[in-house]
Amino acid sequence: MRTLQSLTLACLMVSPLVAQVSNSPKGEVIVGCTETKMYHKANCKWVKEIEKAGTRVDFKSVAEAKQAGMKPCGDCKP
Ligand SMILES: [Zn+2]
Repeated sequence: MRTLQSLTLACLMVSPLVAQVSNSPKGEVIVGCTETKMYHKANCKWVKEIEKAGTRVDFKSVAEAKQAGMKPCGDCKP
């Protein structure tokens, strides 16, 4: 007599990976520095320094930065 082998089904719990892609819109975000009173594009090299100094202030547009009395950066030319 043969014994029947019972098949054990392993249920794999696959958790769906929710990829949160943060697409930064080009030229949309303007980063200002409250210390130098200058504004930059988000990808400017000075933005890192501004973040280090903790003087970062974000603007939605160049016009908004100008209204706050900021001057454009000579490197990234926002
Ligand atoms: Zn800049």
